[in-house]
Amino acid sequence: MSTDEQPARPGAGRFAPSPSGDLHLGNLRTALLAWLFARSTGRAFYLRVEDLDRVRPGAAERQLADLSALGLDWDPPVLWQSERLDRHRAAIDTLAAAGMTYECYCTRREIQQAAAAPHGPLGAYPGTCRDLTAAERAARRATGRSPALRLRSETTEFEIEDELHGVYRGVVDDFVLRRGDGTPAYNLAVVVDDAEQGIDQVVRGDDLLSSTPRQAYLATVLGFPIPRYAHVPLVLNRDGKRLAKRDGAVTLADRAALGETPREVVALLANSLGRTGSTPAALLDGFRPDTLPREPWTLDPVNMVKSGGNP
Ligand code: GLU
Repeated sequence: MSTDEQPARPGAGRFAPSPSGDLHLGNLRTALLAWLFARSTGRAFYLRVEDLDRVRPGAAERQLADLSALGLDWDPPVLWQSERLDRHRAAIDTLAAAGMTYECYCTRREIQQAAAAPHGPLGAYPGTCRDLTAAERAARRATGRSPALRLRSETTEFEIEDELHGVYRGVVDDFVLRRGDGTPAYNLAVVVDDAEQGIDQVVRGDDLLSSTPRQAYLATVLGFPIPRYAHVPLVLNRDGKRLAKRDGAVTLADRAALGETPREVVALLANSLGRTGSTPAALLDGFRPDTLPREPWTLDPVNMVKSGGNP
């Protein structure tokens, strides 16, 4: 199915945080946008806790509580990615049965060194283990290192369409499907979960744009429709770096400690989008993706001096 076809049913959007800590203003702004994109188009809106990696106990629960405090709502059930390992494995098995996987014994350092060589696209896996002979594979197995499983990709590039970035063509390499420790890799899990949850609209930070051609290609290989994408600008700190917890009062709890209510936080986020309103519902009226700022929002959380992003 092309991305231009209208879905037969309203479809669904989602927000898919990793529970590695509290959400900061950048994450909250992306969540608000994902909700606005979904609800303004009559879609369902799901939360998916991406807990295959970097889990901090209690973080997921606090993330859900913060989203709810902002006035965001979602359709049940909340999906915990770790409960879907059998589905991830089934997809990996399908790919393996089709001859589209191979074991990779490379260490991170070996990949970095090989990828730094002056050929091939930047950041792409150079294919070191793609065509190992049986003897070479046996020698690597004998080291006792547990291999990652990679996609035997049949392309090197794939084109996607993004509501904010337009047509985007990017690298598709032999990316990891299953890590050496047996955990499904993000790029595999996200594709399987989005498809099986009926998600046809993916709104997330634009740091993930460059991974999207890989994911869209994998979706087609697995016979899944490609969702619509909207990669939204990040929030940056004073130094132009991606906002992080260490930048100061950036979580809802931090803001509350300064006497700021969730409504005031929504108003701040709305302002960064060139809008006024202190609840998500109020921002639904007149939500227009084509008028969203295309530049990152630069924020000084200590002084709350805002610049950029305000048309
Ligand atoms: N779990 C990812 C993150 O928090 C987001 C994945 C996605 O939206 O596709 O960065």
